[in-house]
Amino acid sequence: MKGYTGKVLFIDLSKGSLEEKQIPDEVYEQFLSGVGLGVYILYNHIPTGADPLGPDNMLGFVSGLLTGTGSLVTGRWMAVCKSPLTGGWGDANCGGTFSPAIKQCGYDGIFFKGISEKPIYLLIDDDGIKLEDAAAVWGRDTVETENYLEEKHRGKKKPAVAVIGLAAEKLSLISGICNDRGRIAARSGCGAVVGSKKLKAVVLCSSRIIECVDREQMRSLSKDYATKVKKTKLPGFLSGGMLPLIGKMMGKMKVMVALDGMMTLIPTLKKWGNPMSNSLGVTSGDLPIKNWGGSVIDYNRSHYKHLNPDLITRREFKSYSCYSCIIGCGGICKIDDIADGVFAETHKPEYETCVSFGGLLMNKDLESIFYIIELLNRAGMDSISAGNTVAYAIECYENSLLSKDDTDGLELTWGNTRAITELIQKMITRDGIGNLLADGVRAAVQRIGPNSARYAMHTGG
Ligand code: SF4
Repeated sequence: MKGYTGKVLFIDLSKGSLEEKQIPDEVYEQFLSGVGLGVYILYNHIPTGADPLGPDNMLGFVSGLLTGTGSLVTGRWMAVCKSPLTGGWGDANCGGTFSPAIKQCGYDGIFFKGISEKPIYLLIDDDGIKLEDAAAVWGRDTVETENYLEEKHRGKKKPAVAVIGLAAEKLSLISGICNDRGRIAARSGCGAVVGSKKLKAVVLCSSRIIECVDREQMRSLSKDYATKVKKTKLPGFLSGGMLPLIGKMMGKMKVMVALDGMMTLIPTLKKWGNPMSNSLGVTSGDLPIKNWGGSVIDYNRSHYKHLNPDLITRREFKSYSCYSCIIGCGGICKIDDIADGVFAETHKPEYETCVSFGGLLMNKDLESIFYIIELLNRAGMDSISAGNTVAYAIECYENSLLSKDDTDGLELTWGNTRAITELIQKMITRDGIGNLLADGVRAAVQRIGPNSARYAMHTGG
């Protein structure tokens, strides 16, 4: 096969059995690979009415159609499952270096069903496919687990490792799957499905060549694209402090002009990563503020100036790209000491995380956002849903649906950084009030009461 491998691996964790299956070319013609292949497989394998956290649900790790062929910006992978959060289709997408490793093992996707009796992890290397005991890493955070497994299985090649953290082990419906020490396939509750199967990690360490139909042509296309990306630059005078003004102008426009990604998105991603939308989103009216009830009048300059992307990039001491990406919006940032030096560094925050723990909660403390990101990445919890759930809890508290007795003494008020951070810790460990909130807003409404539904921002869970 060229481009795709034409094979998937099925693993039944209840039986401990493995089965390789050839996928006909027509399936790729109709569904491509990636999420499309995931849809095809899951639709044909998950029985109607299956419990998302039961043995019949299937969780797939799928690579992309062009991943590994020499094409650029095609290095992402997808987790697919029946979502325990919504009861419907679930997928989550992630960068890093895990996607090509799936194909280098000879598969376009690896699919799990069943439930293991004890915590295990999957290892695929040049010696074969094994299910290994995960007792040594169960209960450990995602970064520690990844370090441990990478070290243990490092041979000629560094293994690619995807892991779950405490949130997924405790079946939080807003948990995800991490790789590259902090990139996370976060959405749809796919982490909880992995946790329900007692699958701690997938370790991939094979080095098969991924074929390409026309390598020369691909090389030439990629070269053209790389040249264009290299040429895209922002005017030197444009600073992060000017973005709110641009947002204000955009907010006043009656129609939105179509923007060329090469001219706008790519150079801004190269310069700032996607936190470039932070303050611009506030002033354009695009960013959700105060649990979607506020505006730039509430979260004004005195707040949003603290999320200026220049302040974020100033902390960046190392930049990186996902596999085959030449844009390179990723970065590792220094965290200043706000929690007894527990964490020294974290990934550069994404726009969504800045929003969830910034304007949505009326929080202006950038330091706390860095710290919370690292907490969430290590626990493997979705920062979008986590912030959204904290915003809901604050509105419940403000409207007397939760009291200090319910919150274990936490003063859940807007912008109360300390309380927000402690609440996140409780959600990760399912301690006290955290247990009510650990599964996102829809589940929380069922626990706190229907009067709280008006503060729960979600569509279908
Ligand atoms: S480095 Fe940034 S732009 Fe490139 S694939 Fe990763 S997330 Fe996307």
